[in-house]
Amino acid sequence: MRLLTFKGGVHPPERKELSAEKVIETAPLPSLLILPLSQHIGAPLAPVVGVGDEVREGQLIADSEAFVSAPLHAPASGRVKAIEPRLSFTGVKINSIVLEVSDSQEKTGLAPLTQADLTPEKIRKRAREAGLVGLGGAAFPTHVKLSPPSDKPIDTVLINGCECEPYLTCDYRLMLEEPEEIISGLKLIMIAVGANRGVIVVEENKRDAGQILNEIAEKEENIEVVLTKTKYPQGSEKHLIKAVLDREVPSGALPFEVGAYVQNVQTTIALSRAFWKGEPLTERVVTVSGEAVSHPKNLKVKLGTPAQDLIEFCGGFSEEPDKVIFGGPMTGFSIFDFSVPVVKGTSGILALKVGEIELGDRSNECLRCGRCLDACPVFLMPVTLANLTLAGDIDGLEAKGALDCVECGSCAFVCPTRRPLVQLIRYAKFEVLARKKK
Ligand code: SF4
Ligand code: SF4
Repeated sequence: MRLLTFKGGVHPPERKELSAEKVIETAPLPSLLILPLSQHIGAPLAPVVGVGDEVREGQLIADSEAFVSAPLHAPASGRVKAIEPRLSFTGVKINSIVLEVSDSQEKTGLAPLTQADLTPEKIRKRAREAGLVGLGGAAFPTHVKLSPPSDKPIDTVLINGCECEPYLTCDYRLMLEEPEEIISGLKLIMIAVGANRGVIVVEENKRDAGQILNEIAEKEENIEVVLTKTKYPQGSEKHLIKAVLDREVPSGALPFEVGAYVQNVQTTIALSRAFWKGEPLTERVVTVSGEAVSHPKNLKVKLGTPAQDLIEFCGGFSEEPDKVIFGGPMTGFSIFDFSVPVVKGTSGILALKVGEIELGDRSNECLRCGRCLDACPVFLMPVTLANLTLAGDIDGLEAKGALDCVECGSCAFVCPTRRPLVQLIRYAKFEVLARKKK
């Protein structure tokens, strides 16, 4: 089979062997769940419960009238202990519902839908009701993504099974363990956006998962599985579309501009469950890995579970970690307080030993080597953007395309002196956007 790819990108150490063979286990229910009211892109939620209220698993606990937002449901039965600002993985405090988990658990949910409900409107409505957001990390509300402009027809849905970030294996395990749910969710997305072709895209290093999916896809007329080269950031939407469909998403545009729709594996499964089983999004699969974790695992975790509970369930630290990261090592956030909770976009919790994946020195001095330019998959000049950020040149940043940065981290990965290029460019994007809003 020909391997599809894109130009540029990097080859960080994969380190997936630490957890790839670990079958998904269910993490124990913690005694306390911390549920930030803003864990998606869009308007924050307002609680619809009060302190002291008893809630059941699956019950709606926070919502918003804004279109770009996604409601939140109780991941377990319990009592609302507090609604107060709590630390999140980003390092800032976010207003959160703190739920004291009960000894006895009772479940509620949405009514399961049927074949008679297979319309674009009902699929979108269900995605919203269930609080679905992109579980690959972006946390963009799924019902909004499923509502492209009517004058932008979509012909192909790509299911992103690349999981190109090092260490992470939760999507890989789901492709092995729940392939039927992926095909089922893909069919729902195709109906919702009116596409007649579905493609599941898997990186070559997960060939076995591709084969399992292919056995099911072969029974479907318009669904296929393709393999891509193992390269970072293959899973970024624009690179996936380029590699598989040979279409360029223009600068500042979204995939629907080129007739494509991309959805992550885990979100696709969540949509199938929400539609056919009436399950709101209250849990997700998280990879807990890194050489400083005693027993790396893939865990089915209730949203709101503190990171420290999961680290303890994995046997604790085998030694003092150099850093602990929420997400993958390329795009994740370092955390310093392990009480921060898992949210909808949390794909991994990594505890890394000193020097586990770092290359080169840490002087942060630019050597003018040009490696970051070669690595950038959207052909930006990361070194220039970083320098413009340090100089506070917002005009220059906008002119040099800072907003096109997909925050993949490839530039920082190849930089021999470990300049904090992504952090600088992320800050630059924030500044450019803030000025545009004025
Ligand atoms: S500038 Fe942005 S898109 Fe380019 S390599 Fe760096 S993080 Fe990735
Ligand atoms: S990779 Fe690092 S050292 Fe090399 S040009 Fe880019 S910022 Fe400078």
